[in-house]
Amino acid sequence: MHSHPFDDDELREECGVFGVSCVKEAANFVALGLHALQHRGQEAGGIVSYAPEIGFSQVRRFGYVRDNFTKASLMETLPGRLAIGHVRYSTSGSKGPTAIRDVQPLFAEFSMGGCAIAHNGNITNAVALRQELIERGSIFQSSSDTECIIHLMARSIQKNIPERMKDALRRVEGAFSIVAMTRSKLIGVRDPLGVRPLMLGSLGDGWVLASETCALDIVGADFVREVEPGEMVICTEGGVESVFPFHPVKPRFCIFEKVYFSRPDSVIGGQSVYESRRRIGVELAREAPVDADLVCPIPDSGTPAAIGYSQESGIPYAMGIIRNQYMGRTFIEPTEQIRNMGVRLKLNVNRALIRGKRVILVDDSVVRGTTSRKIREMVMEAGAAEVHFRIASPPTQWPCFYGVDTPEREKLIAATMTEEEMRVLIGVDSLKFVSLDGLYRACGEDAGRNDEQPQFCDACFSGDYPVKPTDMIERGFRTKVPA
Ligand code: SF4
Repeated sequence: MHSHPFDDDELREECGVFGVSCVKEAANFVALGLHALQHRGQEAGGIVSYAPEIGFSQVRRFGYVRDNFTKASLMETLPGRLAIGHVRYSTSGSKGPTAIRDVQPLFAEFSMGGCAIAHNGNITNAVALRQELIERGSIFQSSSDTECIIHLMARSIQKNIPERMKDALRRVEGAFSIVAMTRSKLIGVRDPLGVRPLMLGSLGDGWVLASETCALDIVGADFVREVEPGEMVICTEGGVESVFPFHPVKPRFCIFEKVYFSRPDSVIGGQSVYESRRRIGVELAREAPVDADLVCPIPDSGTPAAIGYSQESGIPYAMGIIRNQYMGRTFIEPTEQIRNMGVRLKLNVNRALIRGKRVILVDDSVVRGTTSRKIREMVMEAGAAEVHFRIASPPTQWPCFYGVDTPEREKLIAATMTEEEMRVLIGVDSLKFVSLDGLYRACGEDAGRNDEQPQFCDACFSGDYPVKPTDMIERGFRTKVPA
């Protein structure tokens, strides 16, 4: 989980997807996998399973996986050797309280049998597609953009589900990592740019698809490989069939997955997420050194970068800020008064350590800046001599349209202020962000960012959107370089 769940000063993760085939009581494995992916979405989750005697079964619930999908009485309603699941934080569809009909996996019955789909990402031409589909007679049940895929599949004239899915996804723009199932197949697809992750694992005679490797680990599956950008894998008892249904393009994986979203124990592109975050700290220490007594992370997500900063600078690492481990969301709901305590409920300063010290605080990102200000207040109250902020990502200046919930551009502090203006607003002695090149180096690109052909999606930092955000442009969003 990330550091500031009581404040809207954070980027919300998108979604997590998981599927497993050819194992007994598949839904139990899915529940475990979703539990390991809970950091990617805490609002709701769902599982669909298939057993030949019974057909498809589905359960969708609000709340944490551990509070829903652990009860034997409920798991018994999800029988079968094939199952997929989804955890979500709403990135599209209904804003405000999500309707249960928007909770995935979505299920549809076609003439050739049923199909369930779980989607991580965001479709950038969903509004236009929905309009077209409605005009041609489709009746939408949810506000989820994923439902477009179902209706596009329904209109396809292909004879089987994987072929219909290919037809549908060729019409869809944006970011998608999809885990789907039919009565006999587990299907995984990544968009041509491979913006969101998707891993393939094996478990006994069966197959596993998961957003991150940490979810393979929890069920004891072996990592096989990543599903490649633009690839569709069709897993059956017989093995894995691989096809590439899209026009090939140079992949651009989401660099923010490495900085922020993925769990540090996950491996992406052959590099551990922990290691890339530690190396961001190394880059920061080189780019923005400062004389100080302690390097302290804002827990938990600032921790690996703080370790790297300390190792590179030789300044001792210490836990100057301690996280309250067991703060559930429910506690915060009742009163406005408690809500206003915000950061204090989640984080506390280790006063005895901080007093009189020059402290470097390492955080993962600055979104609106409100959390940073509160943390700085708490640290100063505790008697720190100096406070220096080091941020393990470049300034977040642009919204994400590929499945991460970001505030509008005007609300992103870095979109409207210079670094010095932000420093004054937050009230710290110094404020430095890692450079975009430094971030690329930390992610294994030793020569930094290739501006001609960027190796990653970094639109939230650079404004360089690899897929045109069609729907948003339609609503008046202005890109950096007008099309
Ligand atoms: S805009 Fe940022 S968060 Fe969104 S996919 Fe690109 S790098 Fe990731």
